Amino acid sequence: MHDRETESSPEGRFDVLLRDLLGFGLVQPCPEPHGATWQLSPLAQRRLDELGSPPPPVDKVVYFGHRCSICHEHVPTRRRAGSFVCDACTRPDDAGTVASKERHAQERSPLRSA
Ligand SMILES: [Zn+2]
Repeated sequence: MHDRETESSPEGRFDVLLRDLLGFGLVQPCPEPHGATWQLSPLAQRRLDELGSPPPPVDKVVYFGHRCSICHEHVPTRRRAGSFVCDACTRPDDAGTVASKERHAQERSPLRSA
């Protein structure tokens, strides 16, 4: 077994971390007979994908717990210049405005009972 990494990182240095990986089930032995090889569990791989990708731009994050600061409807909103604004109120000049407003009304109608 060749382990060149032990030269730069003394054995035992990551034991705590590795035990956690085992304890949380984030790594698992390879199913095929490769010897003593391990792979990340599907959950760990998914989370690493998410954590490794850059955070979305502020205006791409959708908030569900705020009212639109323009129409005051309780709909999904995004941050625009410090305010929470729904998509329908965001770009009134855009070409897709009509379609956006229609979709907005459809999404909103089930909530009107409140
Ligand atoms: Zn709005």
